[in-house]
Amino acid sequence: MRKVWPLLAAVALLVPISLVHGQQPQQQKPLDIYFIDTEGGQATLFVSPSGQSMLVDTGFPGNQGAATPAEANAPGIMRDADRITAVLKQANVIVLDYMVITHYHADHAGNAAELAHRIPVRHFVDHGPYTVEMQANRDAPYLSYQPVRERAHTIVPKPGDKIPVVGLDVRVVSAAGDVLTEPMVGVPGAGAPNPLCRDAKLKEQDATPENFESIGLVIRYGSFRLLDLGDLTWNQEHALACPNNLIGTFTVFHTTRHGDPHSGAPQLVYAIRARVALMNNGERKGGSPEYWQTVHEAPGLEDFWQLHRSAAGGAEHNSPEQFLANLNETDHGHNIKMSVRADGSFTMTNARTGFTKEYPARGGAPR
Ligand SMILES: [Zn+2]
Repeated sequence: MRKVWPLLAAVALLVPISLVHGQQPQQQKPLDIYFIDTEGGQATLFVSPSGQSMLVDTGFPGNQGAATPAEANAPGIMRDADRITAVLKQANVIVLDYMVITHYHADHAGNAAELAHRIPVRHFVDHGPYTVEMQANRDAPYLSYQPVRERAHTIVPKPGDKIPVVGLDVRVVSAAGDVLTEPMVGVPGAGAPNPLCRDAKLKEQDATPENFESIGLVIRYGSFRLLDLGDLTWNQEHALACPNNLIGTFTVFHTTRHGDPHSGAPQLVYAIRARVALMNNGERKGGSPEYWQTVHEAPGLEDFWQLHRSAAGGAEHNSPEQFLANLNETDHGHNIKMSVRADGSFTMTNARTGFTKEYPARGGAPR
């Protein structure tokens, strides 16, 4: 009997609890991703199947990014903080495990301090205790966040580091001006020579060097992979994609810098072969026709979702209305939700209309 017990115990460990109780295996929770409308800023909430949460950026302070200067400067409005708070409630998030601030521009760091007053935050993730833009009119978001980050547990990752969200594989591919220099390991397409680099163009950096510091993330759940480079610049995208594609292929491309033409290098956008793109543009922020066209033409793209109809895009450079979360004239503040299952299939929902689209899993890893 003494010898049999360990064997019985080992067998018991191998038998799923559902079989022991004669039930169907319990459906695992999906990875839920909420792309929150912040009128051309960024705020994306990830809720892992484990229950842990990660908010990437916090939108604009006050009512900035609104269509007219009078509206943008209206006092007493906490538009994006309120929208993010509503989504946290909807997702039953009562403690944020990670708040990532990609960089210290107002449309990303705008509510870091405000949200930290509203909900407990276990870990902050950012590019370090400085901003390269200390001009009086550009340092306010950083200065409001600085006292919060100093008191909190703050992680300052380097490219290649992992953000340990339980249930997901979250990797940093850019931070503080540095980008990955080696291909990601065990990733489809990573390390492959990129033929698009031969004729690739580079661009002059514009006069907003804080974008260059952006934390860029690769979020993986099984075979599902999402790329979010914050507001990284065109030449840094080039460095990630040329001469070899260091980051591989993706399911979802969350467009860099809201669809502004200082980012969106085709040598990266084409090489990552995303099935779905999602642009966090505003009515008049990002959403450039040139960038839209690059994404629209990218090989393997099935659908291109947008948080807003782009005014600059006109009839030619916007997706069909069902893929637009906000049409501007009549509505603002509608989000796009994505639910990703363990088999790699996922559903996307336009909160304005309730329109949903099902994306079946592709065999094995995303191509
Ligand atoms: Zn931005």
